[in-house]
Amino acid sequence: LQTRLPAVGTTIFTRMSQLAAEHGAVNLGQGFPDFDCDPALVELVSEAMRAGHNQYPPMTGAAPLRLAIAAKIASLYGHQYDANTEITVTAGATEALTTAILCCVHPGDEVIVIEPAYDSYLPAIALAGGVPVRVAMELGQHGYSVPWARIAAAVTGKTRLIVINTPHNPTGTILRTADIAALAEIVRGTDIMLLSDEVYEHMVYDGVRHESLCRHPELAARSFIVSSFGKTYHVTGWKVGYVAAPAALTAEFRKVHQYNVFSVNTPMQHGLASHMASPQPYLELPAFYQRKRDLFRAGLAGSRFTLLPADGTYFQCVRYDAISHDKEAQFAQWLTSEIKVAAIPVSAFYAEGQESGVVRFCFAKQDATLELALARLRAV
Ligand code: PMP
Ligand code: GLN
Repeated sequence: LQTRLPAVGTTIFTRMSQLAAEHGAVNLGQGFPDFDCDPALVELVSEAMRAGHNQYPPMTGAAPLRLAIAAKIASLYGHQYDANTEITVTAGATEALTTAILCCVHPGDEVIVIEPAYDSYLPAIALAGGVPVRVAMELGQHGYSVPWARIAAAVTGKTRLIVINTPHNPTGTILRTADIAALAEIVRGTDIMLLSDEVYEHMVYDGVRHESLCRHPELAARSFIVSSFGKTYHVTGWKVGYVAAPAALTAEFRKVHQYNVFSVNTPMQHGLASHMASPQPYLELPAFYQRKRDLFRAGLAGSRFTLLPADGTYFQCVRYDAISHDKEAQFAQWLTSEIKVAAIPVSAFYAEGQESGVVRFCFAKQDATLELALARLRAV
């Protein structure tokens, strides 16, 4: 059998969650909350089911949800998308990312990906027949940063798409206005498209604002912007996300979406739409997660781990060179099996497994979970 993705195995997130379960470790590996969503949201989904929202929704997404998404984006970022022609509800952000890549990347097209990169980008590019052009972030005194000059140098006549992720998984780096200006400079005068993974849009700390690409009209005009209800409403298992893109891009996106999943489960969409009409819970998310980040950082401050900056997302990356010179995967396995705290090796976010001596912890956990993990990590 000549497979399309010969190099792909089981994801690092699944493997580390399995290892954590085997060893009874606190699971700070795979990114998901260990607390439940707002019970009112569960009630709204139940109500939607009782109201008969149980058959196929429109292929593009339930109308109330598309309207709620468009209203939210307009109020937060000042860009008015047309709910009918520019917003599509997807099966999580993952489907949105893969569909966007499949609908615009032709065989041989180059796609610039910034590493470390979320694990779904490269397989999707491979399925499209695209050629990934990987550019590594720089890891310096002040953490990770995007080397725009190297990205500019990587652009060729074949560059079709650049994949952006802000706030960035796993590093927590957020793009600032200077980054946006550099990106705008690179794409100006070209027909390069942008795929902006903004699933952590509400996890930006210290009062900094999220630079959604849709805030910037010249970038919005060429961007697929992806987000996920899983992150924002603590429901990663519901797998509902969306893509916002100009009508011409959305039309192409929907051609693939239509034959990939056709549509996304109906009652969740109605429940989420009703929930979004009430006081917006995402406005509280930065403070909610910043407190957890600070608790986790304070707990690790006196330990042998070195904290890297954590400006956004619900991840904290640490160096461990004061503890071990093992490779990251080996160190993460040891942490899980011996110290009983699971982490993710950042090398898993590089196609060639680049080693930086850094692992990622997820702090989207109850305080008691974080305290238990911290006690163990401080003892290392
Ligand atoms: N992009 C990034 C950067 C992520 O971290 C995740 C979730 N881990 C996703 C996309 C996928 O989101 P979803 O679960 O909604 O498919
Ligand atoms: N996005 C999550 C993470 O980075 C994992 C999602 C998954 O398991 N595929 O941990």
